[in-house]
Amino acid sequence: MELICHKVALPLIVPFSTSFGTQTERDAMIFELKKDGITAYSEAVTDYGPHYSYEDNDTAFHIIRKYLVAAIFNVPKPEEFLKSVKHVKGHNMAKAAMEMLLWDFWAKDAGQPLHKYLGPSKGKAEVGISIGIDDTDVMKERAQEAVNRGFKRVKVKIKKGMEESIVNIVREGIGNKFPLSVDANTDYTLDDIEVLRSLDKYSLAYIEQPLDHDDIIDHAELARLIKTPICLDESIISEYRASKAIKMEACKYINIKPGRVSGLTESMKIAQLARENNIHTWVGGMLETGVGRAFNVALASSKFIDSPGDTSPNDRYFSRDIVKNPFKMMDGVIDANDGPGIGIQIDTQYLKKVEKERIKLL
Ligand SMILES: [Mg+2]
Repeated sequence: MELICHKVALPLIVPFSTSFGTQTERDAMIFELKKDGITAYSEAVTDYGPHYSYEDNDTAFHIIRKYLVAAIFNVPKPEEFLKSVKHVKGHNMAKAAMEMLLWDFWAKDAGQPLHKYLGPSKGKAEVGISIGIDDTDVMKERAQEAVNRGFKRVKVKIKKGMEESIVNIVREGIGNKFPLSVDANTDYTLDDIEVLRSLDKYSLAYIEQPLDHDDIIDHAELARLIKTPICLDESIISEYRASKAIKMEACKYINIKPGRVSGLTESMKIAQLARENNIHTWVGGMLETGVGRAFNVALASSKFIDSPGDTSPNDRYFSRDIVKNPFKMMDGVIDANDGPGIGIQIDTQYLKKVEKERIKLL
């Protein structure tokens, strides 16, 4: 058995800005597990800094090496792995990197594509686009391009002070009927109620995570004060937390990111719980390479996921990916990979080229 971590830096085509800052490349950690003739892959969705959550590449690597690697030595099933690392509090993205490696391994062992191995599958994922903060005219153009390319929903990042100028011009560009949502990435508080209410007139599909990253209570209050439905992202770190948000009526949508919730086991539980309670779900993204993206598309293909997600085709972010068979989108739909496991073929040449470090963990 062998476990390798490839630390890579992939240049982004367009710098990606949110209310946290701007990225020009994606620093990713790719994991490769070899055992019994099977090679499984996964990706940590952490990045260079602790901005989306408290985790970053260095903390994830530390937690994996010191506390998690021992728990995958016998290649357990994902759920058993999670039970055996319960004593490690938090660090969901580190856990997810190992948990998803096991999903790929066991799906390959069963000779099944991951999207079917996970449960009832639609075989495809509906795709929306996430547009970073930029000059508002540029954002409008990107939104129009996205509509023309067939994306099913446009989401624009907003930040305090720029929300109305962004939404107004993008709405003007794509019309009043096209599904549009905004993502505030925690930039507001309840004191901003007037400005948040001013977005009600734009018929947004939802506003994503307007308030603090671990808040539910204020979001529940906000939900009663504005018309725009609320989608929670950062706040939903587990099925337990999702159940509390649903109970408090803090959201109408949940953005499920496997990395944020310790992997696919918990993602599937959240998706099922949400559907039972008529809460919409979709699958978000974290600028993953083709490796992490393949897990997102497998999850987004689940029958429990009912809304278009952020699983854009890879060519929107990277001119060349580390997989040879990146996803292609047709009419806003990506077909799930039907090869075994996540169904990707690693471009080993390019992986070597963008690799900054290669560490043997087992
Ligand atoms: Mg978000």
